Amino acid sequence: MTVREIFDTMSYGLAPESAATANAWLDDHNRRFGMFVNGQWLQPSDAKYFDVIAPATGEKMAEVVNGTAEDVDNAYKVAKKAFKGWSQTADHERARILYAIARGIQKHHRLLAVVESLDNGKTIRESRDIDIPLVARHFYHHAGWAQLMARELPGYGPVGVVGQIIPWNFPLLMMAWKVAPALAMGNTVVIKPASATTLSALLFAEIAAEAGLPPGVLNVVTGADGVGKAIVAHGGFDKLAFTGSTGVGKSIRRITAGSGVKLSLELGGKSPFIVFDDADIDAAIEGVVDAIWFNQGEVCCAGSRLLVQENISAAFYDKLKRRMDTLRVGHSLDKNVDMGAVVDQRQKETIERWIEIGLAEGADLYVAKCEMPSEGVFVPPTLLTNVEPASSVVQEEIFGPVLVGMTFRMPAEAIALANNTRYGLAASIWSENINLALDVATKVKAGSVWINSTNLFDAASGFGGYRESGFGREGGREGLFEYVKPAGHKRIQAEIPEVENWGERVYGRPGGGSSVASNGLVDRTAKMYIGGKQARPDGAYMYPVVNPKGEIAGRAGDGNRKDIRNAVEAAHAAKGWADRTPHNRAQILFYMAENLAARADEFAQQIRRMTGRTLKSSKEEVDLAISRLFTYAAYADKHGGTVQETTLYGLVVALNEPVGVIGIACPDEHPLLGFVSLLAPAIAKGNTTVVIPSEKYPLSATDFYQILDTSDLPGGVINIVTGGRDHLSKTLAGHDDVDAMWYFGDAVGSQQVELLSANNMKRTWVTYGQQIDWLDEGQAAGDEFLRQATQVKNVWVPMGE
Ligand code: NDP
Repeated sequence: MTVREIFDTMSYGLAPESAATANAWLDDHNRRFGMFVNGQWLQPSDAKYFDVIAPATGEKMAEVVNGTAEDVDNAYKVAKKAFKGWSQTADHERARILYAIARGIQKHHRLLAVVESLDNGKTIRESRDIDIPLVARHFYHHAGWAQLMARELPGYGPVGVVGQIIPWNFPLLMMAWKVAPALAMGNTVVIKPASATTLSALLFAEIAAEAGLPPGVLNVVTGADGVGKAIVAHGGFDKLAFTGSTGVGKSIRRITAGSGVKLSLELGGKSPFIVFDDADIDAAIEGVVDAIWFNQGEVCCAGSRLLVQENISAAFYDKLKRRMDTLRVGHSLDKNVDMGAVVDQRQKETIERWIEIGLAEGADLYVAKCEMPSEGVFVPPTLLTNVEPASSVVQEEIFGPVLVGMTFRMPAEAIALANNTRYGLAASIWSENINLALDVATKVKAGSVWINSTNLFDAASGFGGYRESGFGREGGREGLFEYVKPAGHKRIQAEIPEVENWGERVYGRPGGGSSVASNGLVDRTAKMYIGGKQARPDGAYMYPVVNPKGEIAGRAGDGNRKDIRNAVEAAHAAKGWADRTPHNRAQILFYMAENLAARADEFAQQIRRMTGRTLKSSKEEVDLAISRLFTYAAYADKHGGTVQETTLYGLVVALNEPVGVIGIACPDEHPLLGFVSLLAPAIAKGNTTVVIPSEKYPLSATDFYQILDTSDLPGGVINIVTGGRDHLSKTLAGHDDVDAMWYFGDAVGSQQVELLSANNMKRTWVTYGQQIDWLDEGQAAGDEFLRQATQVKNVWVPMGE
């Protein structure tokens, strides 16, 4: 091509990045890699190997070990041994090592970027300018957290040995997101990279060792999904962290149910990209490019669902198609391309299958008229319009460069469409009206919301999902709690017997008590409380509340599935509670405390009658319940969030949002205080609740609705369903419209709740039968309760014209 022709067309020539250093590194290893365990390359004599293929060319780059369950166990033992030393290493020493790793990443920046691009197919522009700088930033930031651990997280220690499983879309970045906080907090790690992209993890392990990370602190076991399964099934790991598909995430939740393992899951997404008619259209078009064609659309938080306000949609889609035609697709090392290869042939076929499904469902297809490489696995930028909100291509994650586009008329419709998904990872909102954009940002259910921007990340801001996008955060202060536990806290590894028909209940058993407590209330049957009204149990069954002497202290409704479903419906109808001002919620909690104080004697008598405890101890329980209501009235307006100190010129605001509808199964100990200690943090932070009070001693809770009735609490915020704790928990834990389940019961129930929760990936908080001292404010109130009652949403607001 002549210079003249180039001027005429303004087209780009090839600008390849050199692969020389990467090739030299591969050659140094004879293009055959062992696993990196205990600071050494490990190639078992009987090891099997698989090929590392460059997706842009189909060429074989190297071979890596296909690890086994035995290799996982070996690495675990090494990491366990190393934990003794690393967890005792001074904060400053760990900080120095993490800092040295960050420096090492910067030193090997180019090598890492080239290896990453060759192995994954992503463009060098992105690996060089986005992935690797973010990796270094993550280690710098967490070097800081290591330094400050004792000061900033007093009373917390490392969790132990951590098993981590990562995907292929951002191989090194996902590794950094997991490894940096784990090491900073004094844990040791066994990590499995995706089989499609192993090289940068191995290179990283080498760099970390060079930076002085002691042997055994970080171990890399390569292999296929069998290695991942072995990590999950191993049983020894104290914490598992997974990023990948929602299907595998759910299976991990089920397999680990009841094991007491700490779990964080970063799963799929189908994130909305909302364009209002007053948006800066040119900027929004570039935003779409970054949202869905960044990293070939193989991004969990890709803005893959475009929602454009109807009055500008024709012009917008027209402009978008013209922009699509100018995108360049090509070899990952060409510095001028916008999109590289997808990760492998299998992923290419998956993406193409989704496009066919879209067409079969009646979508209109637009494919960018860009030149496509003749070899390698590439998919062009693709747009599907004329789709329905319920179309599979609108609901399911495609994980490729395929955008689906719809329109909306009013902001409320945009919000409804945005939330019409089982996922909740991210959202992007475009409008020059900041009031509108912020309003929508608070109403969209997603862990990260970008205003007039998209796909922004930083180590100081936690990333993670709502709903079926998983739970847990990576990055920021909020992410640290995934890798710490209260010092001295032992993981509960209960022997859980096999149970059949957990939570089955036989209704209408007669009797239960030998005589009658002298309270004059025996014939009174406490009703349940749903939607702010007393409710008779659907099945009309009652059960006797029997005190330790065998006397009947009263009767309570024996609730069933229908009662729970009604209560969940009422809790949903009351969700406006979250929009009340924190001050208003505080006022109501104070008022509840005041009303309880006015009837303290009556409540103490009830506790005494039910539990057989002394009046003094019953009074103490009531007093503490009043104090705990004060605690959460105080916290109602003191746990709102923070401004994150990221690299963005703008505001990144971490909001502690309510989780939604929380199911709460209360303990039997301290029937009033346990009940109040759990529902108060939940409602203080704007959640609505379905509470199953102590099965044994439910009458404090049923008396409590008189307090609720006189405290201005809107109906439906607290719903009380009495009956069999496990029977009712079973329906709550499996209910798709419940967002979290707290279960303060035995190990079997805890396991079952975790198992059932995987249906919709609701968050769970279970105690495996471990007793909490409800009288101890340190154990029974505070941070952990507030964290369980909230989820962090980071809203990114760039500044400047
Ligand atoms: P997976 O969820 O299967 O893989 C992610 C990681 O988990 C890989 O390291 C994988 O190993 C490992 N793994 C696979 N199966 C298991 C298992 N049963 N137990 C433990 N570990 C396991 O994603 P895929 O690579 O198969 O991609 C499939 C789809 O998942 C994509 O099309 C996309 O929709 C979605 N996805 C989402 C990601 C996200 O960030 N949200 C990331 C990647 C994929 P190996 O690679 O060796 O099989």
